Amino acid sequence: MIKPDAVANGHIGAILDKITKSGFKIVALKLIALSEEKAGEFYSVHKERGFYKDLVAFMSSGPVVAAILEKDNAIEDYRKLIGATDPAKAEPGTIRNLFAKSIDANAVHGSDSDENAEIEGNFFFSAFERV
Ligand code: ATP
Ligand code: MG
Repeated sequence: MIKPDAVANGHIGAILDKITKSGFKIVALKLIALSEEKAGEFYSVHKERGFYKDLVAFMSSGPVVAAILEKDNAIEDYRKLIGATDPAKAEPGTIRNLFAKSIDANAVHGSDSDENAEIEGNFFFSAFERV
């Protein structure tokens, strides 16, 4: 997912370009606004964390771009491409290093396992919306 900060700052094209140039195939893609309820559902694993309320408010503050990406070793390679959760700690050249300003507004989301990628893909896309 491209988060509201990166969408608002005009980075959709640059981020998708980095993703595709890194060997990922886009198999589903949409621009969509999450309600607070849907953002809360998406990040429900974090609901006991202190930052959950702010995270939900931020993720519903503007449109996001949702995508399903395919590649061998996709989870690990994509997380390497986006860099650390805190952009201040993200390696130079990673998406969060280039396009994010803070740990709250960190430009992109990545699934953390094959199982969660399946769940999150189904959260955003019907079978009809995938190629
Ligand atoms: P994401 O799930 O968005 O890809 P991540 O897997 O790198 O990020 P998580 O631990 O899953 O990190 O946290 C989800 C999101 O919650 C982070 O992207 C960040 O925006 C926010 N977050 C995480 N830790 C903190 C924190 N200590 N303070 C504020 N926000 C945080
Ligand atoms: Mg995460």
